[in-house]
Amino acid sequence: MANDKISPGMQQYLDVKAAYPDAFLLFRMGDFYELFYDDAVKAAQLLEISLTSRNKNADKPIPMAGVPYHSAQQYIDVLVEMGYKVAIAEQMEDPKKAVGVVKREVVQVITPGTAVDSTKPEAANNFLIALDSDGQQFGLSYMDLSTGEFYVTSLSDFAAVCSEIQNLKAKEVVLGFKPTEAEEAVLRKKMNLLLSYEEEKSQESQLLDDSLKALEYSAAAKLLQYIHQTQMRELSHLQKAVHYEIKDYLQMTYATKSSLDLLENARSGKKHGSLYWLLDDTKTAMGTRLLRTWIDRPLVNKDQILERQEIIQVFLDAFFERSDLTESLKGVYDIERLASRVSFGKANPKDLLQLGQTLDQVPLIKRLLENFASPSLEKLIQAIDPLPDLAALINAAIDPQAPASITEGGLIREGFDEKLDSYRKVMREGTSWIAEIEAKERQKSGITTLKIDYNRKDGYYFHVTNSNLSLVPEYFFRKATLKNSERFGTAELAKIEGQMLEAREESANLEYDIFMRIRSSVESYIQRLQELAKQLATVDVLQSLAVVAEKHHYVRPRFNHKHQIEIVQGRHAVVEKVMGVQEYIPNSIRLDSETMIQLITGPNMSGKSTYMRQLALTVIMAQMGSFVAAEAVELPLFDAIFTRIGAADDLISGQSTFMVEMMEANQAIKRASQSSLILFDELGRGTATYDGMALAQAIIEYIHEEVGAKTMFATHYHELTELSSSLTHLVNVHVATLEKDGEVTFLHKIAEGAADKSYGIHVAKIAGLPSSLLNRADRILYDLENSGANLPLKAKASLSAKEASQEQLSLFAVEDSHQELLNTLKQLDVTNLTPREAMNTLFDLKELL
Ligand code: ATP
Repeated sequence: MANDKISPGMQQYLDVKAAYPDAFLLFRMGDFYELFYDDAVKAAQLLEISLTSRNKNADKPIPMAGVPYHSAQQYIDVLVEMGYKVAIAEQMEDPKKAVGVVKREVVQVITPGTAVDSTKPEAANNFLIALDSDGQQFGLSYMDLSTGEFYVTSLSDFAAVCSEIQNLKAKEVVLGFKPTEAEEAVLRKKMNLLLSYEEEKSQESQLLDDSLKALEYSAAAKLLQYIHQTQMRELSHLQKAVHYEIKDYLQMTYATKSSLDLLENARSGKKHGSLYWLLDDTKTAMGTRLLRTWIDRPLVNKDQILERQEIIQVFLDAFFERSDLTESLKGVYDIERLASRVSFGKANPKDLLQLGQTLDQVPLIKRLLENFASPSLEKLIQAIDPLPDLAALINAAIDPQAPASITEGGLIREGFDEKLDSYRKVMREGTSWIAEIEAKERQKSGITTLKIDYNRKDGYYFHVTNSNLSLVPEYFFRKATLKNSERFGTAELAKIEGQMLEAREESANLEYDIFMRIRSSVESYIQRLQELAKQLATVDVLQSLAVVAEKHHYVRPRFNHKHQIEIVQGRHAVVEKVMGVQEYIPNSIRLDSETMIQLITGPNMSGKSTYMRQLALTVIMAQMGSFVAAEAVELPLFDAIFTRIGAADDLISGQSTFMVEMMEANQAIKRASQSSLILFDELGRGTATYDGMALAQAIIEYIHEEVGAKTMFATHYHELTELSSSLTHLVNVHVATLEKDGEVTFLHKIAEGAADKSYGIHVAKIAGLPSSLLNRADRILYDLENSGANLPLKAKASLSAKEASQEQLSLFAVEDSHQELLNTLKQLDVTNLTPREAMNTLFDLKELL
């Protein structure tokens, strides 16, 4: 890269770039940000911009690409979205006044975890994570820079760290320690994270509690340091680090959350079809984010759950008050992010107006909450601080018609500042003075077409066409000569013009200063605004849960300490919403304190998974504080949910379906307690029949003897249902089917006891497999069940002609017997049968079958 005759400008570039080797350097040159060398080549490709070169005629021209500064953000967004870092180097002095090369410095590094100025801001959080480790334990801290939320915890192993990173959907992780090669490979390759490194700790200790453990403290302090290193600006909106423990919430791994479609539908990756989709009737962006957090982290503390339930109940009991409340939230802007924009120095007059409008709305919201007249709302109402001083300041200061730009004036309201008002008076009156001068001079000179115009170059001037030049008075002085006209000034006009121009310039400057002053006053309210944002978000989520509960007829769950599950006519809330209430068949779920394991058998497609997921979803909704889809519900408080549902190959991590299955089973049985819930769907299916069945049985026994967690185990191994005779805490249930005239109907109804048949071939028929293939499968099944044959049976193609015709015959025999059956039935004279003859005939018919 080095070039012997490098220009001072390029030398400056290289010096700056050396400090940011892992970022694209956008180097401000006039109206462009330029990229050079490899950055230019790569960016040209990624951003689809043209690649040129600097000093083209030199031996080694320098590759160059650029983006206009005013549209740079969209290009930055693209790079950051792709997982790259972008360093912005600005000109630090006026190029016109600079001696030699203009001074340039990096003013900000934008990274995937710290991007806050995106042109398309998302409602969801964008968390940046920092990790520290002593080789055994981990400290994990995370922050959303766009809201200032800051959290810290410790974790005991790397698997838990990975799960937490996935839960938080982070794109970037700051490492404060040297990871092992394996750890780094998992983070970088398998989890596709951008890894950054930070060894220094920030000294900003007021955000960090002394009671944090050493690793927690250092993870959080390194996170802060990284934020300051990249942002290089004052950040007054960062909140105090909140310590949390994984066990403060219902624990679920990322795989579990994903397979239960909590925040998005695992299949489509979209909101539609997820629990979040079902529960989201929030009206504010802050409410939306909080709802996602509640879904992601259901509670384990009964009092906290009941507190939420109480408020939902209050909202449900007063429809009209609640509707007014819901309506009032529609005028609430994202004050959490607005507060951050103030802190970043990015807030424009429109932002402050939105803040003001929101604050104006708060007394109303408070009043509406008071209208419910419920003690359950007292705490919430108390916590809502309408910040009247700030509201009054914004209302008095900011012009409701203010533009988004802060330099063009029109920001500050009339009557807020005397000096500004006097400038404005000059500007207003100046216009009428000018009109007066125009009229006066027109009359005096006798030029009927005389008029005063304005342009930037000549200022105010009299416009005189050539035909009238002879009438121009002597005290007019020439300002400009055009083809058909001339422009003149007078001393009087110049004086007024001077006053007006001064007023215009001064007022724009003054407005800017006043705006800045107001913005910094707002800054002093940031913490209170953040607190207000939290309360409003809580109100929003609770009203959303109430609205949804009412719409879908949910009930308030109760909790017991008896390890007892009692769900009467429960529904899978999401499936019900997707398929419609009429179609959905409710199922009760009962596991008394003595029952630990439900073994679920039943045909494919009959609803085993839906039944199990129904339980998980009911537990999650209940522990979020939400109402649930059933007629009545009583649950124990669970500490964790473990699942093995679905059979998605974890191709990225290079593990087979079966391996993932076993790893998840291992996690469950090792980590689950008596207060956990385990859902295993067809565990063991991914290997040979006996192998799988043996494992499945051993796992069931292990849970039964060692773990004691409430467990649902769906299986196609009917043999396992025998376990109920030896395992006292295991019961069999099955999904009922109706078989009539050779047709099978799945009732989606859970019944006691074990299933007797599988109906796999029936499902294959519904799926449309060729009838010859289905006949063959029927035949194989018949042989396996009746003649004690083993798989594989002799292939059809290798059957001798005799065997084939026998197979054909035996199939016909089946059909013949059906025919005979039909004939017998047809000929039967039912009215003349004695009860005894009827019994005998029935017996014969059954024999025939
Ligand atoms: P497999 O053994 O093949 O995995 P399964 O027994 O687990 O099947 P599910 O996946 O739970 O079956 O359900 C299959 C389909 O049946 C669902 O997609 C849904 O359309 C329907 N279904 C399940 N439960 C119900 C119910 N309670 N009411 C109405 N339809 C249901």
